[in-house]
Amino acid sequence: MKKAAPIYVTQPYLPPLAEFMPYLEQIWDNKVLTNGGPFHQQLEQALCEYLGVEHLALFSNGTLALMTALQALRITGEVITTPYSFVATSHSMLWNGIKPVFTDIDPATFNLDPARIEAAITPQTTAIMPVHCYGYPCDVDAIQKIADNYNLKVIYDAAHAFGVKVDGNSLLNFGDLSVLSFHATKVFNTFEGGAIICKDATTKTRIDRLKNFGFVNETTVVAPGINGKMSEINAAFGLLQLQHIDQALQRRQAIDRAYRAGLAGIPGLQVPGAPAATDCNYSYFPILIGPEYALSRDGLYDALKQQEIYARRYFYPLITDFPMYRSLPSAHADNLPMATIAAAQVLCLPIYPNLSDDDVQRIIALCRKPV
Ligand SMILES: *Cc1c(COP(=O)(O)O)cnc(C)c1O
Repeated sequence: MKKAAPIYVTQPYLPPLAEFMPYLEQIWDNKVLTNGGPFHQQLEQALCEYLGVEHLALFSNGTLALMTALQALRITGEVITTPYSFVATSHSMLWNGIKPVFTDIDPATFNLDPARIEAAITPQTTAIMPVHCYGYPCDVDAIQKIADNYNLKVIYDAAHAFGVKVDGNSLLNFGDLSVLSFHATKVFNTFEGGAIICKDATTKTRIDRLKNFGFVNETTVVAPGINGKMSEINAAFGLLQLQHIDQALQRRQAIDRAYRAGLAGIPGLQVPGAPAATDCNYSYFPILIGPEYALSRDGLYDALKQQEIYARRYFYPLITDFPMYRSLPSAHADNLPMATIAAAQVLCLPIYPNLSDDDVQRIIALCRKPV
């Protein structure tokens, strides 16, 4: 029997190569490679329409977009954030000389628990940076209420939340800014890429200057900006990806449904999900492995690995376990009991458009009867 190909937690979606050629020919013809060229402008407009947002600034990746978002709102001092995320969330603060203050998550959503935020606010607090983990919406209303009461800015790390809607409204419209990632591993990829979503033209102009060294025109520089611009190749690829995204999301939804049906009723294996009013993007398929399961979480992780199925423990370790964070008082496990449990129990199963029905069933069978 032919050996099955290894299965990773995700595989980047790539449209047929031939469809990309005309875009490349256009770039080779007009010789505009970057600096807000025609594809860059078209992609910003197309994404605003697709996502249902007012203003969007493209970036070369999500991390530079997070760093620039903090600069754009002149955030200083302390920012309240989650330990249950990818390290870029809090790294963007350290690069800005900001101190992250970690608070615990709500185990139902894996997102910052609004009830924990208030106690972490000090006179130095200037902002909250929550993450819509797995694309599951944060409690945006409760977070905004706290921000309004204490005059804090809210910047969402929405790297997982491309296309997610709540009651028909884009999740990216909440807070002061939202930041997307278009990295190869994300639902919508431009190889590398990212974006900031903002609400007014003045902020968009400030962000556009900050991502281009602070230039206003040929001779005027108004801020110590960075180079965060998306190239024309990435922008052109994004335009092509947009033509395929609905179909890709539909396939993800079908896989999500198959997993939910197949994994129901297994002792000790819990399948979380987003609240009912959410239009999901099915970016991840997290499960939680409790003590009643036949194996430990790492036991299942290893059993799948034996079959060359590479599930991932997102997010283990917690950000607060890394050396540049662990000495902060807020990083102590006693402060983060729910995040600590989630990190110990979570396993993200493979989900991507090209994952076959047979492979989904094989993964379900292994979870039912791990060997
Ligand atoms: C992917 C990711 C980022 C970083 O985005 P890049 O485009 O890879 O720089 C930031 N935060 C979260 C939660 C992510 O998953």
